Amino acid sequence: MTDTPSDLPNHPAEPGMIGTPPSARHIPYDSADHAEDFSHRYAEDLDIATGQVMMDLNLTDHQMGARDPDRNREHHTFFPSDRTGGSVSPTGQITIDSGVMNLHLLDAGYYEPTQEMWRRTKLRSRIEAIIPHELAETEYKDHDLALIAAPETKLPISHEAKRLLRTMEAGWKGSAGPSSL
Ligand SMILES: [Zn+2]
Repeated sequence: MTDTPSDLPNHPAEPGMIGTPPSARHIPYDSADHAEDFSHRYAEDLDIATGQVMMDLNLTDHQMGARDPDRNREHHTFFPSDRTGGSVSPTGQITIDSGVMNLHLLDAGYYEPTQEMWRRTKLRSRIEAIIPHELAETEYKDHDLALIAAPETKLPISHEAKRLLRTMEAGWKGSAGPSSL
């Protein structure tokens, strides 16, 4: 086997480039934008996946999702346009959103080990962690108390999800970012 430059095809001369080469160009990257974009494209799959997790955790029909004002008030468990990870209505209806796809969701409100844990946790376990957090927020009407209560959930969530909730409890900075769980 020869592996000399003479084996490589002869490229015609590259056309002259105008402006900054792509490698040097600053490409604005926002992980929340990226997560929302992805979520819109895969909204149907994410809706099914979220609904499945909710059923596996034995949520009631009432707790599983809500009507989306952005989509003709159709009932969905996954809201691609929201960015907070999850929400709960005053009456306890839970929705998961594009924040669950954002690997930097916890960067603003939590210390680095929690951010890192979030990034390493599988999607399903992230959803499994958000649900008891939201339920606890309905019950206690307070994010800080929800952080303490959620790891004690009776819902059959995975060890990975429980570990994430404990890490969140320990790693909360004490003030929420613009879009934080
Ligand atoms: Zn919260």
